[in-house]
Amino acid sequence: MGAARGGNSAAAPTPQHRPRFLCDTHLGKLGRRLRLLGFDTVLAQDITGGHPGGADAGDDALVRLARVEQRILLTRDRALLARPDLSQALEVPQAPVDTQLRGLLERLGLRHLASPFTRCTCCNTLIEPIDPARLPDLPPGVLARQDRFWRCPGCGRSYWEGSHHRRLQALVARLLHP
Ligand SMILES: [Zn+2]
Repeated sequence: MGAARGGNSAAAPTPQHRPRFLCDTHLGKLGRRLRLLGFDTVLAQDITGGHPGGADAGDDALVRLARVEQRILLTRDRALLARPDLSQALEVPQAPVDTQLRGLLERLGLRHLASPFTRCTCCNTLIEPIDPARLPDLPPGVLARQDRFWRCPGCGRSYWEGSHHRRLQALVARLLHP
């Protein structure tokens, strides 16, 4: 990872203080990976309403949200990193997303704080176990093969332990136990 700003902003966190993140534009994939590991992460495009092709969130809005919600801003934008009103930020190097994520986990000592598969990767809300009888729109066959289901109360997305989940489990294992 690049240089930290804001004094001890990159100090190793305690389990009581799982850091929260704000990902600048172009780091959305890193942000969704952080959500997969259970870290509370807002994406810049969330602030703009997520419209495809919509304007990037203004720097002022990013800095304000980082400050108000005490989020670590992850960015590659040097001008943004240099802003004096930015409390916590880290520069993310240009690299494959899993390399970026491993660097972040290492730098902030985050591996023991991960809580994989607890958060919706689409909208950042904590997911909840749900009786599949309350999920009328499951693809055919899923109900017969799976017995544990979750739903995101934020966006309504359903989750279960299918083949996609198994691929993600392998990914999480590689990230947390390199
Ligand atoms: Zn959701």
